Amino acid sequence: MLLTITTTYQPATDLGFLLHKHPDRLQSVDLSMGKAHIFYPDSLEEKTTIALLLEIDSIAMIRGSRNDSSKNFALGQYVNDRPYVASSLMSVALAKAFSTAMNGKCSNKPELVEVKMPFTVKIAVLPAPKGGEVLIRKLFEPLGYEVKLERHILDEKFTDWGDSKYFTLELYHIITTKELLSHLYVLIPVLDDRKHYFVSQHEIEKLLAKGKGWLENHPEKEQITRRYLKNLSSLTRQAIERLNEGEESTKEIEIEWNPAEKKQKETLNQQRLALVVERLKESQAQTVLDLGCGEGKLLRMLLKEKQFSKIVGMDVSYQALLRGSEKLHWEKMAVRQRERIELLQGSLTYQDKRLEGFDAAAIVEVIEHLDKNRLRSLERVVFEFAQPKTIIVTTPNAEYNVLFENMKTGSMRHSDHRFEWTRNEFEIWANALGDRYHYRVEFLPVGQEVENIGAPTQMGIFTNGN
Ligand code: SAH
Repeated sequence: MLLTITTTYQPATDLGFLLHKHPDRLQSVDLSMGKAHIFYPDSLEEKTTIALLLEIDSIAMIRGSRNDSSKNFALGQYVNDRPYVASSLMSVALAKAFSTAMNGKCSNKPELVEVKMPFTVKIAVLPAPKGGEVLIRKLFEPLGYEVKLERHILDEKFTDWGDSKYFTLELYHIITTKELLSHLYVLIPVLDDRKHYFVSQHEIEKLLAKGKGWLENHPEKEQITRRYLKNLSSLTRQAIERLNEGEESTKEIEIEWNPAEKKQKETLNQQRLALVVERLKESQAQTVLDLGCGEGKLLRMLLKEKQFSKIVGMDVSYQALLRGSEKLHWEKMAVRQRERIELLQGSLTYQDKRLEGFDAAAIVEVIEHLDKNRLRSLERVVFEFAQPKTIIVTTPNAEYNVLFENMKTGSMRHSDHRFEWTRNEFEIWANALGDRYHYRVEFLPVGQEVENIGAPTQMGIFTNGN
């Protein structure tokens, strides 16, 4: 059972301060059923990795177990996967090894506690129950993680035996250390069907404490709670009730649009998509990408236009794609229609061969959801590698925010936005991008323009100059 956490935050060696573990020493902590060893495979200013290796004493585990389902075959108690797979034991080890960081404390460098850092977490090997991959994605993606999964086959010599239930999981996110550890602490055991210790009232407290600030808004909160508490319905009910109590207060963080503004936003959304369709038609494109397609409103509009022979939507959120495919009424669609459209799950920050060879791409209200350093990756993925002839990008115009009644100065239109640009900032970015990758850029306002402020949305249309 091995878990590694890597950061490229500069200096990456700060990870040692944050986790209270000295990079030069191998350290071990005792667990009731074995030991956890902590060491650094890499400790450089550019990149530091810390590893948590579990060494499980299977005999001690059997003595301590009360309802281990591996007992269902004779040697199950002794021959089982427990020593090799990450499971709820990993969670116990995380809490023990990194308790100070999990509580959001760092005495040597307290300022680091609030810093969001790029983290890559690798877990080998992770068992997943039925529907494994979907569940793993449903747990981590709503929290903003990019998820890479490698499924292991049962036996390399007998490939026709098919896949096993084991995965190697890689997660990427820019996030604080405390958030990262609390997500792992709760979600790793959620994937484990066979929790090794007895579930008691005490577990609710742990779940609520570690889930504070994120679990109450997680779309899978019920499933997470149920699985974490091992399907004990009375405990689950209690925990869900308590989670929901907190819901009201967190909702207030979102901006409350007044009814007129809500209507304006809907109209704006329509206008934006209509303009994208119009400009894509003018570009003579036949094959188009909708990158960050969300629930696929644009895709459905494009499908109505005969000019487009191939329409591909891509999004990082599995949830959004699922809703998108429902709204398309896939099963009722005529075969010829169905052949024109495809939905892909993927991240725009990783080079992807599936995006190559298209005439045009739309990236509508997506860039502002990416942290700035991930935006650099998106630029390369789209402009350098995928290289469609036409690329349409839209993003909010920050100058317009003063006109929204309920918005506080300096706030953003959506809690997930990482930035919102003025027209000047957008133009500087787009022109530099155009220069770098040989695209001409044209700028257009979307929605009602106001003097000195501009329109609510801004659009850049990139045309390949080659
Ligand atoms: N284009 C849609 C949705 C905009 S919301 C519309 O105009 O209505 C932003 C979308 O970008 C979300 O669906 C989100 O899941 C997606 N997204 C965010 N980061 C992404 C990434 N790295 N790769 C692909 N999609 C991403």
